[in-house]
Amino acid sequence: MDSEKIKQAVTLFLQGIGEDPDREGLLETPERVARMCEEIYGGLGKTAEEHLKKQFTSENSEIVLVKDINFYSICEHHLLPFFGKVHIAYIPDGKVVGLSKIARAVEVYARRPQIQEQLTCQIADALRKYLNPKGVMVMIEAEHMCMSMRGIKKPGSITVTYGTRGCFIKDYERQKMFFEMVKS
Ligand code: ZN
Repeated sequence: MDSEKIKQAVTLFLQGIGEDPDREGLLETPERVARMCEEIYGGLGKTAEEHLKKQFTSENSEIVLVKDINFYSICEHHLLPFFGKVHIAYIPDGKVVGLSKIARAVEVYARRPQIQEQLTCQIADALRKYLNPKGVMVMIEAEHMCMSMRGIKKPGSITVTYGTRGCFIKDYERQKMFFEMVKS
């Protein structure tokens, strides 16, 4: 990440909106934003492989569901946050991963300019690729600040997306089970 460029851009941006980047409260803002970017865009260029490669043998071949994983991401259209919960289910094919590693995998794809639909796909594809389970289902419920504080101003409205891979595709019974487990 090029923090010099970020600092210059923030200074320009502040001038652009009619602010004075030299006033006391804003003096360290470019530096602060540059440091923050390291964290909130820290997933750029990475994959979840490093988090999912440590696997354990398991006989279990029923749904493993990790629900209510909190995430924060940045909408690539407005550079405003969207945030909420990810629910991930998979059917192991002899291998499972540590539950906290699944949350780490979510972070990799959330910490970049993103759209919710793409985030859903990237998480599902990463699990499919690096864990190779029989099936994966991912659901995301999120509030978008670009809908809450600007434009149509609908605070509290939740966007829901989901994606299926492998044996979850067209298995509506199993999908129903997923939704019931997420709700309970
Ligand atoms: Zn947006």
